[in-house]
Amino acid sequence: MKNPVPLNLLPENASISDAGELYLGGVSSLSLAQEFGTPLFVYDEEHLRRRCREVVAGFGGGAVYATKAFLCTAMARLAHEEGMRLDVATGGEYHVARAAGVPAADLVFHGNNKSLRELRIALADRVGQLVVDSFDEMDRMEELVSEGHEPPEALLRITPGVEAHTHEFVRTGQDDSKFGFTVSSGMAEEAVQRARSSGAMRLKGVHAHIGSQVFRADSFGAAVDVIAGFANGGGFEEISLGGGLGVAYVEGEEAPTIAEWVEVVRESVERNGFDGKVSVEPGRAITASAAVTLYAAGTIKHLPGIRTYVAVDGGMSDNPRPVLYGSGYETFLARDVAAPRDMAVRLVGKHCETGDVLVSDGWLPEGLEVDDIVVTPVTGAYGHSMGSNYNKVLRPAVVFVRDGEARQVVRRETYDDLLLTDVGPE
Ligand SMILES: *Cc1c(COP(=O)(O)O)cnc(C)c1O
Repeated sequence: MKNPVPLNLLPENASISDAGELYLGGVSSLSLAQEFGTPLFVYDEEHLRRRCREVVAGFGGGAVYATKAFLCTAMARLAHEEGMRLDVATGGEYHVARAAGVPAADLVFHGNNKSLRELRIALADRVGQLVVDSFDEMDRMEELVSEGHEPPEALLRITPGVEAHTHEFVRTGQDDSKFGFTVSSGMAEEAVQRARSSGAMRLKGVHAHIGSQVFRADSFGAAVDVIAGFANGGGFEEISLGGGLGVAYVEGEEAPTIAEWVEVVRESVERNGFDGKVSVEPGRAITASAAVTLYAAGTIKHLPGIRTYVAVDGGMSDNPRPVLYGSGYETFLARDVAAPRDMAVRLVGKHCETGDVLVSDGWLPEGLEVDDIVVTPVTGAYGHSMGSNYNKVLRPAVVFVRDGEARQVVRRETYDDLLLTDVGPE
């Protein structure tokens, strides 16, 4: 037996109607499921905007949204309207951000294996900043600059030998990572020398991303010590701390707010005497709890003495996090949010895969029926963006809700979409 779902896991503008039904941004969740179909990602637009504003209030022009958490043109536009620059890590993310009307000057181009083609597009557009990740990338930039492109502003990605895990901050002896230039081996120093003498970039600072889903703000403080120390030694004007701020996914978890995180980072920057620009790149902390996923329950199997399986009309194709990371989620009924959850269930998808689990140990009310709308909250980050077409399951629509209105920002795929890139059998 579990208490009703904790309301702090729901988007800020979620409410419960007199009849007990979930409303999001003033819109009935059942009517959203009806109108747009399920599975459905529903984002509270005002919630997204507030998180962006909090980061901008803390870091001004240093506020960068990490698009990999959730990206479509509406999201890119929203973050940019709220004053954020955008972090893109591939030509594809770059393309979507540009299609949203975000100027190249407001993009930060990441990636550990940017191709010559990707770099050529970015340099031709005069991308705002490039985060340089390898000596091979420097070769490619030199080639492009020799073709006549302007040298872009650049940060060097360094691997500072520290890693933040969910609950702790770890100093790793060796720097076993595909990203960046390791500090301990002297590679980072060598990269600085090369970047400064190359002429293919205007080196402004250093970047490090120490982990994701970090629950302790003081981990960021410890990271600043290392990164600011390196930047001070090299006389750099900018440090970027990447993203990583965690969010609560299930009952009992607690994460720092953006304001608390800003405070810790500011304090540590000051303590280290770094007086240049500080950039951050949150993804999850902006989008995760802004959204819920609505699913329709299709089959309910009570296996006596074992467990109850509830299968919904999506699965690992719209949320691969449980399969990839063993992540947990809450579940509840859209029509009766406050109902006690007295039935232990395993919420599974419709893929031909035993591992296709959405919530391994979930709870729903006993009164659950076929066709009920089941909700999983905190699905706004790394769900839609990591989704796939596995089993040729159609990717869900995405809806933004605000002030009693819903607007579809990504439509549901159709069966014909599955054939768009298929050249044909002969
Ligand atoms: C993934 C990533 C982010 C965003 O991480 P979150 O945990 O979603 O905040 C930011 N910067 C870089 C370089 C990343 O790889």
